[in-house]
Amino acid sequence: MNELLSEQKTKMPTYTSLKQIQTAISKQETSVKEVVTHYLSVIEANKHLNAFLEVYGEEALAKAEIIDQKIRQGTAGRLAGMVVGLKDVICYKDHSLQASSHILAGFKSQFSATAVEKLLAEDAIIIGRQNCDEFAMGSSSENSAFGAVRNALDNERVSGGSSGGSAVAVQAGMCLASLGSDTGGSVRQPASFCGVIGFKPTYSRVSRHGLIAYASSFDIIGTLSKDIEDTALLLEVISGEDDFDSTVSTKPVLPYSQLLDMDSKPKIAYLRETVENEGLQPEVKASILQTIEKLRSEGHTVEAVDFPLLEYILPTYYILTTAEASTNLSRFDGVRYGYRSKNATDLESMYKRSRSEGFGIEVQRRIILGTFVLSSSYYDAYFTKAQKVRRLITNKTKEILAQYDFIISPTAPMTAFKIGENSGNPLAMYLADIFSVQANVAGGLPAISIPNGFDAQGMPIGLQIMANSFEEAKLLAFSKYLLDKFV
Ligand code: GLN
Repeated sequence: MNELLSEQKTKMPTYTSLKQIQTAISKQETSVKEVVTHYLSVIEANKHLNAFLEVYGEEALAKAEIIDQKIRQGTAGRLAGMVVGLKDVICYKDHSLQASSHILAGFKSQFSATAVEKLLAEDAIIIGRQNCDEFAMGSSSENSAFGAVRNALDNERVSGGSSGGSAVAVQAGMCLASLGSDTGGSVRQPASFCGVIGFKPTYSRVSRHGLIAYASSFDIIGTLSKDIEDTALLLEVISGEDDFDSTVSTKPVLPYSQLLDMDSKPKIAYLRETVENEGLQPEVKASILQTIEKLRSEGHTVEAVDFPLLEYILPTYYILTTAEASTNLSRFDGVRYGYRSKNATDLESMYKRSRSEGFGIEVQRRIILGTFVLSSSYYDAYFTKAQKVRRLITNKTKEILAQYDFIISPTAPMTAFKIGENSGNPLAMYLADIFSVQANVAGGLPAISIPNGFDAQGMPIGLQIMANSFEEAKLLAFSKYLLDKFV
């Protein structure tokens, strides 16, 4: 509704892909400046969704003028006309960054994330900073110190999380694409709840330099958009080696946006436990069963495989990520930057009070849990054990992917739930990630969520597709095939 209103106001059609925008610009039907103006008005009209924490209006307009000039001169980069939002965990030089937390109050980035540098070098425009779960910990974007993000399709429902603001911004047409982060599903699950495409590349494909660390052996920057070609192009731009992150893969970056044609019939697996699961919302189950049937009727091999380790994935994920988070977040101590308690009486109370007052309840819960599993009496029982189980889960998943090209499943067992519905029950909330965490636990596999129908309330359902490491090209081509054919 709001989107339609602002559309009328700016007399601009709602573009859903960069190609549409660049074509319109080349026909002189619009300009980058007009595109930015349009997005700014949609952001304004949708403030109640709480998707943006900050909007860089004037700056984006000034940048747009420069890019319009470059287009006229024929010197513009590949992303000219693309307007992007950044989840509030990704550094953008000289701009505030808070991880949606009070603890980083007043903090400004001194450098840009490598992924952001790469976007800017191709003339993308950054339009603002997007709300999310505090330190990317959550599945509904209700854990933000700045209030919950609202789903544009039903304002009483959550956006999913943790990259909720980034998903809603794309869903409601406030920007063309967003960069989010995915530690256990934070790009894919909100994409599923909002009916957009959420893509998590292979771990180490994209530099983590300038991404606030949550669980470093799981974290990766991912994208949200409405178009698979944009997804591929963004991956192509943001991937690759980086002197600032020695864990980045040295594998060559492929021209993913040109590799979107599927050249063979893939073999597809689904985990019996994810489809025949009692806990699945009925419409979600119907949607995945229908997809399986459609694929079979198109002559694809789609087979059920057993994955008895499914019940261990979430505990493994929450032991290891909280352990990593407890060390990563120790740097936020009230001393060097961000929030410092005014109620401190000595050094120790300054640390304690700054952290107790600055961090929200979920972040504190995870720091305590992580500290516990790393404590000397429990290290072997929890941390070491979980590392071993992670290895088993990785091996078993890779075994399946040695025989099949893809593993498909629902992205989440449910559609967007009501705001507040799961807030008092962390375990119910953690279950929203049951299918998405596998890709991160099992050695950081690439995975995508694409829209796959709606439930009875009209809320979107997501289909998750997972592939083997560095098989992004194959994964994106298959996603395009599904989007063209089925969705
Ligand atoms: N919802 C998961 C969690 O709370 C995933 C978060 C993420 O991917 N950043 O940890």
